[in-house]
Amino acid sequence: MRKTLPTVMISISESYELVKSQIQCAAETSGRNPEEIELIAVSKTWPISTVSELVECGHKIFGENKVQELEVKCPSLSSSLRWHFIGHLQKNKARKVLPLAETIHSVDSLDIAERINTIAHELGLFPKIYVQVNHVGESTKFGFSPEELFQSFDSLLQLDRIEIEGLMIIPSFDADPEKVRPEFAALRDLRDKLEKITGIKLPGLSMGMSNDFLIAIEEGSTSVRIGSSIFGKRKVIKSNQKG
Ligand SMILES: *Cc1c(COP(=O)(O)O)cnc(C)c1O
Repeated sequence: MRKTLPTVMISISESYELVKSQIQCAAETSGRNPEEIELIAVSKTWPISTVSELVECGHKIFGENKVQELEVKCPSLSSSLRWHFIGHLQKNKARKVLPLAETIHSVDSLDIAERINTIAHELGLFPKIYVQVNHVGESTKFGFSPEELFQSFDSLLQLDRIEIEGLMIIPSFDADPEKVRPEFAALRDLRDKLEKITGIKLPGLSMGMSNDFLIAIEEGSTSVRIGSSIFGKRKVIKSNQKG
């Protein structure tokens, strides 16, 4: 049966503590060190006042998926925060995002990787990235299919300003998170294969959202991107994005 949080109001600090203890518990039960799992609080759609509540709890890493929102929130909040960009990045927006976000989780084509590299040169930056994978090869979703990734990996490695942390996935949604376990396991296997072929370490696996982060951690996630389990349910906004 699907477990849902009770609908009583709980504060952001309470849900934050709960999420952190769930991460710790999932890590420990799978024999992992909880410290190797980074929590990215996905603050998309939430106003600065809401984000500030979590900043007051001591949290520092936030994720945004829209350039306009990042541009508003990042300069308004403490400069000690670290911003990760998690949405599809258009080529003409890379110049705006790079000075604000230290990591881009959603590098979904060689084209955008090359663009990021060029802008990083111009701006004197060394951004960290994750390569987004879409194993199903669904054309409605962003990301490299495994075949494309094997073909493009050498070209990605030539890009000298970007540091490839590892791979990222947005799995298909299923109310039962057990159903997406194979997608997480497949991402880890793909990472292991790439490491073997290239001899390059790819330590990062950016996988796991509110509904499925426990399973993602059991399958090796090092970076969970969690929004609604911390901030509550977002109002549905129309998206012009694929997927
Ligand atoms: C919105 C979003 C999340 C967070 O989703 P929740 O289900 O609210 O935890 C994580 N990753 C990406 C790429 C997102 O767009």
